[in-house]
Amino acid sequence: MAGSKRDYYEVLGVNKNSSADEIKRAYRKLAKKYHPDVNKEPDAEEKFKEVQEAYEVLSDANKKAAYDRYGHAAFDQTAGGGAGGFGGFGGGFGFEDVDLGDIFGSFFGGGTSSSRSRRTGPMQGEDRFMQVTIDFMDAIKGKKMDIKLNVDEQCPHCHGTGAKSPSDVQTCSRCGGTGTIKTQQRTPFGTFINQSTCPDCNGTGKTIKNKCPHCHGKGYVNKNVTVELNIPAGINSRQQLRVAGKGHRGANGGPNGDLFVEVIVKPHPHFVRDGQNIQISVPISAIDAILGCTIDVPTVYGEVELKVPEGTQHGQKFRLRGKGVKALRGETYGDEIVTIEIKIPTKLSNEEKEMYRKIKDKETKGGSFFDNFKKAFKL
Ligand SMILES: [Zn+2]
Ligand SMILES: [Zn+2]
Repeated sequence: MAGSKRDYYEVLGVNKNSSADEIKRAYRKLAKKYHPDVNKEPDAEEKFKEVQEAYEVLSDANKKAAYDRYGHAAFDQTAGGGAGGFGGFGGGFGFEDVDLGDIFGSFFGGGTSSSRSRRTGPMQGEDRFMQVTIDFMDAIKGKKMDIKLNVDEQCPHCHGTGAKSPSDVQTCSRCGGTGTIKTQQRTPFGTFINQSTCPDCNGTGKTIKNKCPHCHGKGYVNKNVTVELNIPAGINSRQQLRVAGKGHRGANGGPNGDLFVEVIVKPHPHFVRDGQNIQISVPISAIDAILGCTIDVPTVYGEVELKVPEGTQHGQKFRLRGKGVKALRGETYGDEIVTIEIKIPTKLSNEEKEMYRKIKDKETKGGSFFDNFKKAFKL
């Protein structure tokens, strides 16, 4: 049996170095794709189980380590097979005649009953993702915005059961509430238990006598809702906000997944964000740079006076403390970094040219920058 099984990493489309998050994401995507409630392909059920099984192992550090080392043999159900004794199951026992479905049931169901199949237990819905685009200044100051969503919410009348009253929820008589029908198969290598979904209850383990009139037995109601999104001051482009419970609906009374909103911040024509600092370039004339000046520099909090000392060079930077971006957590602020850009006039009147020539005559007596530079090559 072990020989015909696909590699767990291959099943999930991940590799040994994938992070726990990547494994979880890959699992959720595939579980959604092959979920027998959604996918009616004949082999969906098989694939779904395969994905569940791969995730059950790869999401558990101990089991993953055992799998990396021994492969499928680590979890071989045949008599005497496997390394036995993995953490999490009390340790020390092999897996002879242990129904994998039972292990999964306790894993996904969140309950203590190990006789229930995983599919009868509540399962959280998939997460949902969306993007919003905001202006640069909204990211600096924070913004509340309404987003409109269409969500499936648990039916308030039947609390997701789909039944008119609690007594209308009955344990499926065909599968005894396990949601699966088991057949035993004896082979020279040991006993295998094959499972298939119970056709009467579609694997839920329950049948409904009288359906809830509010949701017509679906257990959920589809709603258009408006969610107020509170974008905190200091958010950076591509950061995500989580809105709990506004993802896809859960199964078997499980909670909804979450909504993740990725915030895209539009660039500003002058302010450039650099971590918690803001960079800006400010043009001044050569004369102002030579003689020094005082300028009102724009910041995201309004104008701030900056004294540019005489002899300021092109590209010189000045720091305006606390005029940067607020930290997402806490009350600390970054700085604004002002870069001086010296602009050289290209159109001069004759009078201006005359004045520059006078300055040049004076400069030449002490030797120009360029003359002094050249002297260094004449040694
Ligand atoms: Zn059944
Ligand atoms: Zn209902």
